[in-house]
Amino acid sequence: MDDQIKESEATMRILLTGAAGFLGSHFADRLLAEGHMVIGMDNFITGNRENIVHLNENPNFSFIFHDVSNFIQVTSPIDYVVHFASPASPNPASPLGYPNLPIQTLKAGALGTHNTLGVARAFKSKFLLASTSEIYGDPLEHPQKETYRGNVDPLGPRSVYDEAKRFAEALTMAYHRFHNIDTRIVRIFNTYGPRMRIDDGRVIPNFLLQAMHGEPLTIYGDGYQTRSFCYVDDLIEGIYRLMMSDYHAPVNIGNPAEISIRELANLVNELTGNPSGIIEQAEKRHSNDPQRRQPDITLARSILGWEPKTSLREGLLLTIPHFKK
Ligand code: NAD
Ligand code: UDP
Repeated sequence: MDDQIKESEATMRILLTGAAGFLGSHFADRLLAEGHMVIGMDNFITGNRENIVHLNENPNFSFIFHDVSNFIQVTSPIDYVVHFASPASPNPASPLGYPNLPIQTLKAGALGTHNTLGVARAFKSKFLLASTSEIYGDPLEHPQKETYRGNVDPLGPRSVYDEAKRFAEALTMAYHRFHNIDTRIVRIFNTYGPRMRIDDGRVIPNFLLQAMHGEPLTIYGDGYQTRSFCYVDDLIEGIYRLMMSDYHAPVNIGNPAEISIRELANLVNELTGNPSGIIEQAEKRHSNDPQRRQPDITLARSILGWEPKTSLREGLLLTIPHFKK
């Protein structure tokens, strides 16, 4: 463990795809703070220039506007490729959701992963894939361990995301086994925090936006479905530790504190002082919406010495000012 973490002291040139996104921009900040050089890559399909504007003057940051689904031409050596680029919201009501970007989502997960692994192979660099808890689909095992193989509908509205990420994991393992690429896979569970797009359609931005406008919070279905929400700083710490480790199989990173969507709505209303309550919109709960989700983080605890520190209440209080702005 100590030897693995010491690796972080070395400066690396890192290609980070999805750098203008919510998680990518936070990860860019962390990599730069650790003294690395970051080459951000993004096509802004769901990201936002504003997320990286503060890095414009940073001599260790450069940016390439590029769609990772197309061949990636990088001329100077890269030590590490971190592949975050993918539309990530499941909400069909949001124009940025993967149900509205189905082909782009499949291409970012499949062709984008192939192209970024190609960069890693060309430069003999390390590689980290941002995968997802959606690998487990609507899980029949609870909480979800990395060994669980999932309950995924290959044709439903979420399939473009789930299957692209499952393919991306398989491709990453194939490059690891066949081409000896030094790879990592992080399975990210629901994460929230500053720099999420307010119109992204995911539940926390939706609820915070509705609360700011004094509107009732929209619960899809009966609201008894659960999620486990991780504050972004905790997630970034976990991913950085995994990046610096020697572990090749997938690792769950998320906060195991499970909460129903109904309880989440009540908490948001309490923290924002929103008097308008909740409204049920049964018809908006689409098929394949997982009923329960909770990461088992035993593996991350043991190999990375990591666990989240921020409660949902604390994390929401840190996020609310971003939405007020
Ligand atoms: P995001 O939409 O904010 O960021 C994704 C970024 O990738 C955006 O800047 C977007 O413009 C860029 N992008 C998408 N397709 C691209 C392409 N073809 N070429 C270049 N850039 C492209 O989403 P996020 O929440 O920051 O998600 C980042 C990664 O983490 C994604 O791979 C997502 O699947 C994964 N993830 C996120 C969560 C979460 O709760 N936020 C959960 C599980 C997995
Ligand atoms: N959801 C909701 N109201 C909203 C947005 C989402 O009740 O305004 C529900 C959604 O149906 C799902 C859960 O909240 O059951 C989490 O949705 P999100 O889109 O944030 O992410 P998911 O975990 O489904 O990928």
